[in-house]
Amino acid sequence: MRTGRASALTDTGRRRMQNEDAFVCDPPLYAVADGMGGAQAGELASRLAAATLEERAAGLVGEETVTELIREANDRIYRHALGDPAAAGMGTTVTALLVDEVAGTIAVGHVGDSRAYLVRDGALEQLTADHSLVAELVRTGRLTPEEAEQHPHRSVITRALGTEPDVEVDTFTVAAEPGDLYLICSDGLSSMIRDDEILSVVAAAEAHPDSVAERLVDAANRAGGEDNVTVVVFEILEGEPLPEQEAAAPEPDEPTAEAAVTVAVEEDPAAAPGHPVRRHGAGAGGRWLALGAILLALAAAALLVWWGLAR
Ligand code: MG
Repeated sequence: MRTGRASALTDTGRRRMQNEDAFVCDPPLYAVADGMGGAQAGELASRLAAATLEERAAGLVGEETVTELIREANDRIYRHALGDPAAAGMGTTVTALLVDEVAGTIAVGHVGDSRAYLVRDGALEQLTADHSLVAELVRTGRLTPEEAEQHPHRSVITRALGTEPDVEVDTFTVAAEPGDLYLICSDGLSSMIRDDEILSVVAAAEAHPDSVAERLVDAANRAGGEDNVTVVVFEILEGEPLPEQEAAAPEPDEPTAEAAVTVAVEEDPAAAPGHPVRRHGAGAGGRWLALGAILLALAAAALLVWWGLAR
């Protein structure tokens, strides 16, 4: 098997002023992080988590890797918060899927209530179990799933990244099949629309990742858009792994994650309320790649003009 099309979309929603969600859509790694904290601290926490995963995952596979990456993100956020009073207490959820095309498996690691779903054979399955107050109450039989959906404290999570020096990460491995569609989302989607609605949106979009992401974000906003909403979607296809993915290595010119995070938090006009932000490829590093492509195109044009004049 191999990974096919992928799409990611994040939106501030209709009630919040800032978008504290972040994501990675950088094959073979896909992740969503939903930050919390005062001022811009939630945004910083989620972006630090996304940047750590994206920076370190190249060429790696497996559950242990996912656990290590998430622990590393935890450490980085925790230490950053210790040294910055404005960021004290910041934290984030994280749900990460790392595809191993050679083994045909997907390693899943998560902390908090951002969810991973699998759509297979026309059915939707929630892969992750929320680390949330209401989910614990449902698991112990003290709340019905219907009561949980309406509960005033349904956004309270029982585990987060960055709030303690160490974190317990839940991991498992899924045997992937051609035709699978994987969906990762923040609670801004799953608390606004029900699972059966998610499935009907996927069906209406004919499982096309761009269309699925757009329609799901629209659906969450139409249902009230009470929180930031982020959706990452990717498909699994029949076929051999693409060779370049096996030899994936970090780009030497990529900025450090700290630099990318600073840029992303302070200078992203597209992240203002009401403007969905889309990335098909890299999350934090995407804009640098785009800038590089523009500079290359300009250099090529200059060379052509020079060549024309020289003849
Ligand atoms: Mg949220």
